[in-house]
Amino acid sequence: MYEDFIIKSIVLLGITAFVYVNKFLDGNALILSLAIGAIVLFIGGWGYFILLLIFLIVGSFMAKLVENTRSALRTWYNVLANGFWPALSIAILPFSPDKITPAIFYLGSLNAMFSDTVSTEVGIYLGDKPRLITSPKKIVDKGLSGGVTIDGLLGGFLAAYSFALISSVLINFSWNSVFINSIWLSGFISSVSDSLLGSLLQVKYRCSVCGKTVEYNLHCGSETTYLNGFKWINNHTVNFLSSLVGGLLAVLFFNSFNMLYN
Ligand SMILES: [Zn+2]
Repeated sequence: MYEDFIIKSIVLLGITAFVYVNKFLDGNALILSLAIGAIVLFIGGWGYFILLLIFLIVGSFMAKLVENTRSALRTWYNVLANGFWPALSIAILPFSPDKITPAIFYLGSLNAMFSDTVSTEVGIYLGDKPRLITSPKKIVDKGLSGGVTIDGLLGGFLAAYSFALISSVLINFSWNSVFINSIWLSGFISSVSDSLLGSLLQVKYRCSVCGKTVEYNLHCGSETTYLNGFKWINNHTVNFLSSLVGGLLAVLFFNSFNMLYN
């Protein structure tokens, strides 16, 4: 027990030092990530922690590969948007009489963020000009919320499946099709819902200098004009909501598939 605590502390501090040296996160984001990592490792255990680590490593690697504003240095609100629901579901695990539901919720909410990250980066790196998910005839700039490409969608689909397979080994210790399909489908559908929410709800502005639709109120060095969407809904709010959708869908699918097949 005591040795276990020491080993986990060393691993957490080692990773924190590595992230700090490589500047993957800014100061506040690093502290928040350490807190989330500690909750997941000390309460959840190695399996949950390795999945979180896979998300961080793949996300950071792809962000380095594709230099763009959406995946630049991650800030604390970015970490909170991605990590809130996974951390909460692990935090309630010891108090929950039912151990499966929080675990499934964790996997669904984390897979939503994992698939969305892979989908976004693959779309930017490989894809053609993205089309708006809510009106596919409309071509938008790469990286704009709500824009999707075929490559990006395929990337998200495969990422969600890979995550489900790895979860099955690390958490379920077996190949169970109900388990795998619930995590896979919830991850993929919520990564698509991320684009939908981004397109429908997220605030958009028009730059009066270059004429582009943008997500920020400053572009080309001047103030942009409001176009549509809710002003309090930004990219982080959308991620926060999609992660919640991922967790809820995973629990819904897991229970429905179990009723259908058993
Ligand atoms: Zn501009």
